[in-house]
Amino acid sequence: NKLSNSLAQADIATSLHPYTNARRHEEKGPLVISRGKGIHVYDEHGKEYIEALAGLWSVAVGFDEPRLVEAAHKQMQALPYYHSFAHKAHEPSIRLAEKLVEMTPQGLDRVFFTSSGSEANDTVVKMAWYMNNALGRPEKKKFLARIKGYHGITVASGSLTGLPYNHMDFDLPAIPVHHLTCPHHYRFGHEGESEAEFTQRLLAEAEEVILREGPETIAGFIGEPLMAAGGVMPPPAGYWKGIEALCRKHDILLIADEVINGFGRLGSSFGAVHYGFTPDIMVLSKQLTSSYMPLAAVVFSEKVYDAIADNTGRIGTFGHGFTASGHPVATAVGLENLKIIEERDLMGNATRMGARLQEGLRQYADHPLVGEVRGAGLIAGLELVADKTSKRAFDPVGKVGLAAFEIGHEEGMIIRNVGDTLALCPPLIVTEGDIDEIVARMGRILDRTQDHVSKEGLV
Ligand code: PMP
Repeated sequence: NKLSNSLAQADIATSLHPYTNARRHEEKGPLVISRGKGIHVYDEHGKEYIEALAGLWSVAVGFDEPRLVEAAHKQMQALPYYHSFAHKAHEPSIRLAEKLVEMTPQGLDRVFFTSSGSEANDTVVKMAWYMNNALGRPEKKKFLARIKGYHGITVASGSLTGLPYNHMDFDLPAIPVHHLTCPHHYRFGHEGESEAEFTQRLLAEAEEVILREGPETIAGFIGEPLMAAGGVMPPPAGYWKGIEALCRKHDILLIADEVINGFGRLGSSFGAVHYGFTPDIMVLSKQLTSSYMPLAAVVFSEKVYDAIADNTGRIGTFGHGFTASGHPVATAVGLENLKIIEERDLMGNATRMGARLQEGLRQYADHPLVGEVRGAGLIAGLELVADKTSKRAFDPVGKVGLAAFEIGHEEGMIIRNVGDTLALCPPLIVTEGDIDEIVARMGRILDRTQDHVSKEGLV
């Protein structure tokens, strides 16, 4: 019996996952994760791993939180499913919407639920278009996004995403999107350009694009406050204040994609709060339910709401919604998860432990493989380079990162490699001891990767 020997073998025939190289998957089989406890997960053979990426940047409260299981169980018994079409609603979605309005910055007062971040960003696109139709300016349709930004994989959200694997072969962007320079000084700064000059150049570029295209054609600017999935890249100082000013000046909706940043990840409540700007729309997911249930939320301003509510449109309504929008079990779990985050001061913990993580990782700035150590709060990236002085990348990019990722498994720590950047994003419940262990294992991963690079002659 194939199954009893190894699920990894059986899995080949049954599931193929995104961003997985299918042939490699066939050869090696997946790492089958069977159980979780706190910040740890266990594979099918019982080996323990520190989940230093919180699943997929998701699990705030750890992998075995009984209160979330109980919240799901109770809601399953009371009302396992209902929808929110045709003037219907149910208690958990109403309560969670109230909670989100309370937690998010002032001015964000309305909530639309979806099941994934991609769907939420598609919703944002339609919301902006619908709003502009209602305001009698249907030509205001284009979006500004950034190279290396990640906003999802559906046709519209994938169009906003600025990563080549999302666009190539799919003919994206399929909606009008202009991708601006990635705000990452280390990689996109010019020779000798200071961080302040870099910020000014990026803001000038944004305004030039707005003026060239015409502000009357631009609906929104979308960005992750700290770009996460593209390689953990904090913005240069002053960047967001400048972008906010441009959006206000040209009447462009400012959309903060907080799918990874939200709920304490950067050591502040939200990424927008961390960088001191006020969006018109915030997109939330992942830590919203600790990904115990699929759920995302678009939280938006009264200005957007009014335009949508007052517009009868051609079909008399905002023609958008999903069978599982605001799913009762997902929203019940989300509400309990946010209560736990508050009661246990997990955002405060993220501030304190985040400082310890960033400080601990700084020691590797001198490591021969490491070009840059970066991050904020409990999210960090270490970019591996072939030459520290010239910042020369390995060729091909990603090969060394993948080796480090696999050494990570051997060292009992799950990280993620984005090209040659190693990403860390541990659950918000981490303790001082956990941080010290994560930093120590990272050191071993770097040293062993260095040995691998020398042995294989990869430099
Ligand atoms: N936005 C951001 C910032 C994300 O990181 C992600 C997922 N990593 C998404 C949107 C898409 O979310 P989902 O995978 O739930 O569709």
